[in-house]
Amino acid sequence: MDFQLATCPYCGNRHPKLVHRLFGNRVICTKCHAVGPDRKSGDLARYDWNRQSRELAFEKSIKNQQLLAHLSRLSRLSR
Ligand SMILES: [Zn+2]
Repeated sequence: MDFQLATCPYCGNRHPKLVHRLFGNRVICTKCHAVGPDRKSGDLARYDWNRQSRELAFEKSIKNQQLLAHLSRLSRLSR
């Protein structure tokens, strides 16, 4: 299994890094120092980083949609 690491969901850094440590592996963002979950294998650490990244990106897009809807309601009210 070899797959690419997803972009950092916090800062958009395209090159997060897989770090092997004594008791586990984790992905870290070299820009904002976000840390993925500690996992036994590098593949698992990568997998969970990517999943977390997708989920956060999805959540962010929903929040943005809600915010836009809210703003458009407000702008209608103030007319
Ligand atoms: Zn980052």
